[in-house]
Amino acid sequence: MTRTVEDAREYDVVVLGAGPVGENVVDRVRAAGLSAAIVESELIGGECSYWACMPSKALLRPALARSDARKVAGLRESVYGPLDALEVFTHRDEVVGHWKDAGQVDWLNSVGVRIHRGHGRLLGPRRVGVTGPKGEHHVLTARHAVAVCTGSRAVLPELPGLAGARPWTSREATSADRVPERLIVVGGGVVGVEMATAWQALGAKVTLLVRGGGLLPRMEPFVGEHVAAALTTRGADVRTGVTVSAVVRDGSTGPVTVVLEGGDHVDGDEVLFATGRAPRTEDIGLEKVGLEPGSWLDVDDTLRVTGSDWLYAVGDVNHRALLTHQGKYQARIAGAAIAARAQGAGSLDDGRWGAHAATADHSAVPQVVFCDPEAAAVGLSLAEAERAGFRARAVDLDMGQVAGAGLYAQGYRGHARMVVDLDREVVLGASFVGPGIGELVHSATVAVVGEVPIARLWHAVPSYPTLSEAWLRLLEAYRG
Ligand SMILES: Cc1cc2nc3c(=O)[nH]c(=O)nc-3n(C[C@H](O)[C@H](O)[C@H](O)COP(=O)(O)OP(=O)(O)OC[C@H]3O[C@@H](n4cnc5c(N)ncnc54)[C@H](O)[C@@H]3O)c2cc1C
Repeated sequence: MTRTVEDAREYDVVVLGAGPVGENVVDRVRAAGLSAAIVESELIGGECSYWACMPSKALLRPALARSDARKVAGLRESVYGPLDALEVFTHRDEVVGHWKDAGQVDWLNSVGVRIHRGHGRLLGPRRVGVTGPKGEHHVLTARHAVAVCTGSRAVLPELPGLAGARPWTSREATSADRVPERLIVVGGGVVGVEMATAWQALGAKVTLLVRGGGLLPRMEPFVGEHVAAALTTRGADVRTGVTVSAVVRDGSTGPVTVVLEGGDHVDGDEVLFATGRAPRTEDIGLEKVGLEPGSWLDVDDTLRVTGSDWLYAVGDVNHRALLTHQGKYQARIAGAAIAARAQGAGSLDDGRWGAHAATADHSAVPQVVFCDPEAAAVGLSLAEAERAGFRARAVDLDMGQVAGAGLYAQGYRGHARMVVDLDREVVLGASFVGPGIGELVHSATVAVVGEVPIARLWHAVPSYPTLSEAWLRLLEAYRG
């Protein structure tokens, strides 16, 4: 039964959703002296902490460390055994705090944020209703802003038999504690590729089914080619250009069959659908403020929802870049913009507050895919640069030519590409694939965001012998 609590509560800012993004919004507005409440229906810390970034990387780290070690003379002989799956799961469980959020609750309390447990819905301008775990109902009022940070969820396609086949989504793929003998992964994007890598290393025979022509389609084509070749060499069956038409599960614990268009089929013990994300906005009261339930929320560069002067949408829910670091960047900007407006700063476009604009979302989003070999990219690919009208040139490098690469791993295989705007001679984007390559992306991000002229980059001298010498080789190749 619903019980309405009398005391409506008023705060400067109310945040809906306590994932990494919501947490950073409240942190910023509290630091600026505003009062804040945060509403959470599951665990404080969100998808990232419990079913996404943290558990996936805990599963992947042993896979990548073992793979690197196997490429080092004198070490490889001691790492030929299988991974200890039980130990890996135990560590993963520790990393996610055993799916308990006490630590994050303590932190929110320490910064003076009021937590409201329950499902939040917009009731109208600046008003949020919270239905608590026992059906009790509170109304929160925001003096200045409400920030929707409700994130995204996995999407399952409409396919005959899928609902009854108990498919894995990213949640099961990051929290399972038993290695299936055969795992079918549907989807060649980041989640599909990372989870195929992790579960293959843990001992599953992996079949990766991809509708398009290659893996990691948002990156330069050579990246997916390297990753597919490595997965295949390790024994995975990678099939591109295939479409799933039905799924059949034999009983509640029996094997699963994935039927492909054209009549072929694949048998497995579990099937993971990594086929995209949808915004968690279907039941948050958007209709009460003139917006479409279930839609991604359009925002300006201060993360304010188009057409509103009090509603913000930050993180996955605005679909600008579905990444924790980018969402937290947006949260810092939204928090500063909310505080500035609350303190009467007036227009944020007057130059003084111009910094409160999430410009990096448009042209400098860095991403690392923790597959084997690692993949990383920032900024524009060559095709994107050309589509955007730049007179662009791609400069390519076989990473095997870098001295540090040969020391990092014997027989190092990898590739790097820098995309240069020929008119301004600045870097528009960079992509890397190879062992240990993830750490290179931040130097590329600095070059792209800073629009550092190529002539100055020559003076950013990389240490010898590191993977960063890729920069030197790319500059040499550019000069010709
Ligand atoms: C398998 C996987 C691996 C990933 N790995 C990485 C990675 O390595 N690096 C990276 O940068 N990104 C990674 N991502 C993406 C990253 O998880 C998201 O970008 C990030 O979690 C978005 O944060 P958020 O705060 O916007 O949303 P979320 O983390 O989804 O948090 C939203 C919160 O809102 C709550 N909520 C929703 N609706 C309501 C409501 N009505 N009332 C109250 N609370 C509500 C939810 O319970 C949740 O706690 C990964 C994603 C997946 C699926």
